[in-house]
Amino acid sequence: MTGSLVAGVDIGGTKAAALVVDEAGETRGRAVEPMAGRSATGIEPIVAAVRAALEAAGAGDGDLGAIGVGVPGRIDSVAGTVSLATNLGWHELPLARLIRNEFGVPCGVANDVGLAASGLIGHEIVRGARSLAYVAVGTGIGAGLVLDGRLHQGDRGLAGEIGHAIADPDGAVCRCGQRGCVETVASGPFIARRAAAALAAALATGTPPDAHPLLTSGPPITAKTVYEAAAAGDTIALAIAHEAGRTLAHAIEALMLTCDLELVLLGGGVAGAGPPFLEPITAELDRARSASALVALMIPPGSVRVLPEQFDAVARGGVALARRLIRTDPPNPLHGDTEEEVVARASWT
Ligand SMILES: [Zn+2]
Repeated sequence: MTGSLVAGVDIGGTKAAALVVDEAGETRGRAVEPMAGRSATGIEPIVAAVRAALEAAGAGDGDLGAIGVGVPGRIDSVAGTVSLATNLGWHELPLARLIRNEFGVPCGVANDVGLAASGLIGHEIVRGARSLAYVAVGTGIGAGLVLDGRLHQGDRGLAGEIGHAIADPDGAVCRCGQRGCVETVASGPFIARRAAAALAAALATGTPPDAHPLLTSGPPITAKTVYEAAAAGDTIALAIAHEAGRTLAHAIEALMLTCDLELVLLGGGVAGAGPPFLEPITAELDRARSASALVALMIPPGSVRVLPEQFDAVARGGVALARRLIRTDPPNPLHGDTEEEVVARASWT
């Protein structure tokens, strides 16, 4: 049936991942396109990913009803504009309009982690929770917050920047300019950097190279190889993973104590490491629970979880946004509605 499918798109620094879902909520197609080699407007990989996901669904442009897109950056979701996405080099990009012109269907654009968090509300995986955070741990670290069933974007639309809370005032310089942010301990690039430095220091003191699985899995050393080496018992990798987990646990604890959340769901590339990623976080939260009845009350066991690797939280949030766009009334010229205003009304309601 024409227009019965919706697409959700997760745009990252390296790839655009699209998900096509039917009216029953079944995933019909997926596709990933690299972001490399795109033009200044950068929508080619997005368009290609949506078309490839439609093709995988045995469908075409005419079957599409709406598109929801998550972008890592500051978004004016009313205008459908990417105000600033540093990692993508986008500034004041009218992304919703560009995509709408390409496909001829409504398009909504939102901050990626906020979109993921809002999309989780109502999903069976959150078991009816109304206050939750989606915490993405990857190249950067950020949280999308849903409070009492509504996305909390904050005064400047930047709520959830927990990656730039200070973990160690004397730590490494962060891309934000501060020292010792959570990202400088627990984001993918910093995990890799810390592991490489610790390994070099150990080898310089005469540690035999074969003592470190981390050496045999690289180069290059990445967060993924660090967690693989930690699972294989590499002492350096275990220490780096432990410190990252402890730091994330403290950031999550602060978030949950501040907002009284029911759930924190972890996603993103680094979280994809699974148990070696989650275990140090869980251990630190267990320690805090045993020390504090308040923490035990507010962060019960099971309230901090890693989403399944194939869950596509951001793209699923995009699907939920696209569904809201379809449900919204068409523009009414008598009321002076523009299509942008209709899209704005559908966002976050
Ligand atoms: Zn920072």
